[in-house]
Amino acid sequence: MLNSISYQHCFTSELEPITLKVGKVVCVGRNYLDHIKELKNEVPSQAIYFIKPSTSICDMHRPIAIPRDKGECHNELELAFLIGETLKNAQPETLSKSIAGVGLGLDLTLRDEQSALKAMGHPWERAKAFDGACPLSHFVRWDNKKSKEHFQFTLTINGQRRQYGDSKMMMRPILELIADMSQHFTLEAGDVVLSGTPKGVGALHTGDKIEVSLQGYFEITSRVVSA
Ligand code: ZN
Repeated sequence: MLNSISYQHCFTSELEPITLKVGKVVCVGRNYLDHIKELKNEVPSQAIYFIKPSTSICDMHRPIAIPRDKGECHNELELAFLIGETLKNAQPETLSKSIAGVGLGLDLTLRDEQSALKAMGHPWERAKAFDGACPLSHFVRWDNKKSKEHFQFTLTINGQRRQYGDSKMMMRPILELIADMSQHFTLEAGDVVLSGTPKGVGALHTGDKIEVSLQGYFEITSRVVSA
């Protein structure tokens, strides 16, 4: 079951879907030091960016489908930012008004595939851009005050906490990150930015119960199924 076809961005506070087209997802690798150490990666001198296509987006409130027979599929729970208007060569001081919402996204990653691709020096799309590779939560409406907030989020699998993140642990803070991304890729209304994963990545299995929370805002319970 592919639910990317019927996916629409939603705000937590309203039942009506947001009238923003569903665009691309721009992601950053290695934005939390604890996760860099966990995968024994090096601290990058410049940010590592990659893009998940709109066809990878699905609804985190529905069962989360992971590919079968492609090796381990890992959770990477990340803060997600919904872009409300075009950002190109934006400056961190002025872009807050162009953010529409904050929520959570899973950057699902076929880790065995990615490791093989990395070893060959190949791009990561097979591991990160497949249909359903980006379950998204509903979004909390953004306002200027939120640009001063720190966001805490957790991922719990079968009752055991696996990931805890706090935006103050980011090596590139939110507004600087989005501004820098917009130097390389125009961000359009309806695009989503994923801001990197803290440590605690690991394999998901069919039947796992997943609970995610954005502290102070929402909790979602979902389940892993096989695609
Ligand atoms: Zn990620």
